[in-house]
Amino acid sequence: MRDLAAHAGELDAADPLAGFRDRFSIREGLIYLDGNSLGCLPKATAGRMQQVIGEQWGEGLITSWLDADWSTMPQRVGDKIAQLIGANEGEVIAADSTSVNIFKALTAAISLRPGRGEILTETTNFPTDAYMMQGIETFSGGRIKARAVPPDDLLDAVDENTAAVLLTHVHYKSAKARDLAETTRRIQQSGALVIWDLSHSTGALELDLNAANADFAVGCGYKFLNGGPGAPAFLFAAQRNHNAEPVLSGWFGHAKPFAFEEDYQPAGGVDRFLCGTPYVLGLAALEVGVDLMLEVDIRHVRTKSNALGDLLIEAMEPLCSEFGFELAGPANSAERGSHIGYAHENAYAMVQALREKDVIADFRTPEIIRFGLTPLYLRHSDILDAVERLTKVCRTRSWNKPEYRTVAAVT
Ligand SMILES: *Cc1c(COP(=O)(O)O)cnc(C)c1O
Repeated sequence: MRDLAAHAGELDAADPLAGFRDRFSIREGLIYLDGNSLGCLPKATAGRMQQVIGEQWGEGLITSWLDADWSTMPQRVGDKIAQLIGANEGEVIAADSTSVNIFKALTAAISLRPGRGEILTETTNFPTDAYMMQGIETFSGGRIKARAVPPDDLLDAVDENTAAVLLTHVHYKSAKARDLAETTRRIQQSGALVIWDLSHSTGALELDLNAANADFAVGCGYKFLNGGPGAPAFLFAAQRNHNAEPVLSGWFGHAKPFAFEEDYQPAGGVDRFLCGTPYVLGLAALEVGVDLMLEVDIRHVRTKSNALGDLLIEAMEPLCSEFGFELAGPANSAERGSHIGYAHENAYAMVQALREKDVIADFRTPEIIRFGLTPLYLRHSDILDAVERLTKVCRTRSWNKPEYRTVAAVT
C-alpha cells in the first residue's frame, strides 16, 4: 500500500480551503465526521447572536422588525442560499423546517396539476419525505395517493396521473447522487412537477436548479450550511410556479399582512410560501453559516470532498478485509455526495466506541456507520487519524461492551 500519510500531507499542504478550519470552533483532538447531520459552529455566530439578542431584541424590541430588517430575513437569507443552488433572486425563502417545506412544495405542486391524483417518491427515501406524503394522502381523503417505488423503477412509474415527484438528490444513507438535470427532464416529460430535497447537497455540491429546470426544492440549514441546531430550512419555487395555491396560508404569506384583512389573499412571488412570523434568532445564526459558505468556491469544496472520500475508502480497505466492513455506496466520487457509509454488524456499538476515542461519526439503522465529509473544516490527515482510531477499536474490541449495545432514542 502506498504511503497514505505522505499523500494526505501533500493534499493538506495544497488545500485552498485550509484556512477555513480556523473559522470554526472545534475542540482540539476531536475528529468530527458528522457535519452532514449537524454542522460545526462558526466562530462568528456567537458575536452575531450577541448583537441580535442584546441590541436588536434587548434594546430595539419591536422596532427591530423594521430597523434591524427582521421582517425581510426569510427573503434576504433565501436570496443568499439561492446563490448556492443555482436559483435566482426572489425564488428562495428561508423558513420553517424541511418537513414543513416539503408539505408546502407538494401541496403547491398538487394545486398546479389539478386532475392528477398521485404523488410519487422512491422507497428508502429519508423517512420524513415519505411521511409528509402519507399525511397529504390522509388529509385529502384519498383523492391524492402517495406512492413509493424502488429507486430503479421510479422513472418508469411516472405517468399522466402523477402530479409531483419528490426525490432526494443525495441519498442520506448511501450518498448516491441522482443526475439532477436528466432526472428532472425525464419526469417532466410526463407533465409531472419535480421537487428536489437538497438536504445532503446544499453547501457540498455544485447545484444549478434553474439550469436543470427544477420546479421546487427544499433543504436543511443545519447540515452543510452550519446554521445550528434546528436552523430554518429553505424552499425554492421556480418563478413559473409562483401562481401555486398555498395551503399553509398564514399571514406572513398574505399580500398585505399588516392590513389585517378578513380574507386570505396570497402574496406575489415566493413570499406566498411563508407562513408565520420569521424565526429571527435561527435565521441570524443561519445567515452567518451561509455567508461563510458564500466566501468559498463551491468547486473547491466538491474537489476536496471527493479527495477526502477517496482517501477514506483507500484507508478503510485493510479494515474491510480484516474486520468485515463493507462500503455501502458508490466508490466512484462522481456518483456520490459528501458522506460515506460502511455496513458492519456491530455498527452501532462501534460508533459509541469511536466517541470514546474522540471521533464522532453517525449510526444509521440497521447497520451503517456514516462518515460525513465536510471540506470546510476537515483535514485529510483527520481522515487517516479517524481510521487509525477505528482500527484500535476493532483490534481491542472496545466496542464489545453491554452499554454500547442499547440503541439510544436519538442516533
Ligand atoms: C436531514 C433531512 C431532512 C430533515 O428534515 P427536518 O424537517 O429539517 O428535520 C429532510 N430530508 C432529508 C433528505 C434529510 O436528509
